Amino acid sequence: MALSFDFSEEQQQTRAATERLLRRFESRREELKRMILKEQRFPQEMWDAFAEAGILGALVPEEYGGSNAGLLSMAIALEEMGAHGFGSALLILTAMDTACLVRNATEAMKKEVLPEVAAGKLKLCFAVTEPNAGSNTFRITTTAKKTADGKHYRLNGEKTFITGADVADRMLLVVRTTTLAECKAAGLPKAVGLSLLLIDPHGPGITLTPLPTRGIEGFRQFSVVFEDALVPADTLVGEQDGGAIALFTSLNPERILAGALAVGLAQHVNNKAAAYAMDRKVFGDEPIATHQAISHPLAEIQIEIEATRNLVYEAAWAFDKGLEPGEVGYYANCAKFKAARLALHAVDRAIQTHGGGGFSEDMGIIYYWESVRLLKTAPITEEMILNYVAEHKLGMPRSY
Ligand SMILES: Cc1cc2nc3c(=O)[nH]c(=O)nc-3n(C[C@H](O)[C@H](O)[C@H](O)COP(=O)(O)OP(=O)(O)OC[C@H]3O[C@@H](n4cnc5c(N)ncnc54)[C@H](O)[C@@H]3O)c2cc1C
Repeated sequence: MALSFDFSEEQQQTRAATERLLRRFESRREELKRMILKEQRFPQEMWDAFAEAGILGALVPEEYGGSNAGLLSMAIALEEMGAHGFGSALLILTAMDTACLVRNATEAMKKEVLPEVAAGKLKLCFAVTEPNAGSNTFRITTTAKKTADGKHYRLNGEKTFITGADVADRMLLVVRTTTLAECKAAGLPKAVGLSLLLIDPHGPGITLTPLPTRGIEGFRQFSVVFEDALVPADTLVGEQDGGAIALFTSLNPERILAGALAVGLAQHVNNKAAAYAMDRKVFGDEPIATHQAISHPLAEIQIEIEATRNLVYEAAWAFDKGLEPGEVGYYANCAKFKAARLALHAVDRAIQTHGGGGFSEDMGIIYYWESVRLLKTAPITEEMILNYVAEHKLGMPRSY
């Protein structure tokens, strides 16, 4: 299918609305940053503004109160946020869960949840990682077993690194309704037995414990332990035991949006570096920008930003066009891989351009170091992306 470079009216409106909302917060940038970076709290008023600007409803069909503007619109919004030095991990997680619900939830669940998401009244987190199963999702051991009357699932197990579990109203939870051992005994493939549930993470039998992790500002990570927690059977999203496809297709929007944010952040720090280089004088009266050792790396990053932005847009476009999930996955993985490396390189050069000042919190650069570094590891590691591309695009043997 031919790639078009025209932005729809909705996509242009989303960019304009995002710029407007960010301008609104511009004068309070430092106060908000302090709240996000130092207090690890994300301002509710910014979340409300996302809803007002139509960003939260971009993946929600019109009949459920959204705009259905699409993932490319949302990627544009995330990129703009990054370009202004902001971002929201929970926005990305809410978006990926929404994409999953739109495709897989029952009509009743869609009617209940999607309008609330679009209106900014429901935040969603996502829980797949476990202490003994990170990159290998098939190995998860958190179980959901139907109670005898069929009305509930009984949950047992542990998730880890779950971002925003404390502030989220619902959690898209990946469980095994058939364990790996049961699959093996029945001669079933390991992909069988995974299921998705949309649960209240604050219910009885569920314990959230904050973890001392870094890398995502404004939200903390949690260990989530399930001890005979009962959740209604109608929390099931998609088919019982058949959640693998729904899960893996939902991971694409997360990677694409993470890539969009990374591109925006790269632009943000590159602009800051260029502005500083034009101002800072060290030898004589000319600013350091006159040294090509300073200007060329920033120019190179600018070229990389153009290229990577197009890769992110292409991936979002492929998702919106409904291309086959494997093909979207290829673009999504490429986009996230390039964008994460680019953003880290851009932060590195911005620090270098600022000299010792690059390490000063006042310059507003150093705290991006951890958040963009995280993108090489989460939501998926670089190694797993390379495995995917080697196997699925180049036809090379699976190495694990
Ligand atoms: C700040 C933060 C926030 C997070 N938020 C969430 C969240 O909200 N929800 C959630 O579910 N998870 C979350 N995660 C978890 C994150 O997605 C995982 O940490 C990540 O996917 C890697 O899994 P792991 O940590 O278990 O690493 P492992 O799978 O143990 O891998 C360790 C290393 O070995 C490499 N490796 C493993 N297998 C192979 C292989 N076959 N070939 C080559 N290399 C391999 C990996 O690439 C990695 O470098 C978060 C993590 C962090 C740090």
